[in-house]
Amino acid sequence: MRVLVVEDEPKIARFIAKGLREEGYAVDIASDGEEAMSCATSTTYDLIILDLMLPKLGGTTVCRRLRKAGAAVSILVLTARNSVQDRVMGLDAGADDYLVKPFDFDELLARMRALLRRPQALVPNQLRADDLVLDLLSHRVERKGVAVELTSKEFSLLEYLMRNKGRELTRGQIKEDAWGCDGGSDHETNIVDVYISYLREKVDEGHVKQLIRTVRGVGYTLCEDP
Ligand code: CA
Repeated sequence: MRVLVVEDEPKIARFIAKGLREEGYAVDIASDGEEAMSCATSTTYDLIILDLMLPKLGGTTVCRRLRKAGAAVSILVLTARNSVQDRVMGLDAGADDYLVKPFDFDELLARMRALLRRPQALVPNQLRADDLVLDLLSHRVERKGVAVELTSKEFSLLEYLMRNKGRELTRGQIKEDAWGCDGGSDHETNIVDVYISYLREKVDEGHVKQLIRTVRGVGYTLCEDP
């Protein structure tokens, strides 16, 4: 699941992003309203966490413009404002839920889960590749009906590979898109090799068909064809 955090206080933005990444979400950060609009229109997010008091373009305006453009993404407004009028304004602008700062991180996670459970016609809840099934809501993975235990970082990596089934992905792409970190140097992208080897052990070992494949000179791909 990919989340956009729109927050102009760097400390709060980092805190939210860190917590969400630990839960296995891929996170991008936008620090003002205009950046939020350009992120949200160029990338598909499952959920946007939106501060209201933002530089350049206020959160309410961002929300209204996104809805006007037909964006179906879930929007959770997170703000220090707490008057009834502000809450009504946020919801009227098209937000799905509202959380007031200071907030409890567990409550934020619970509200996110509730929003992400809502049926969204375009977002499938399960990804499949041959006999491998990844459930985006329960975060469960099964191969041939047997549960595969993954860490959140491994889960994000597998989710990314499955979403891009059959495509050849570079290490830099994987690092950036699966985990939301900078592409980094070649040295840093070794971490991708390390996690791919963990995943292979858990997902492919003991099975006839190897789903995770190395693409020489490129990186990796997840492929269900023989
Ligand atoms: Ca703010």
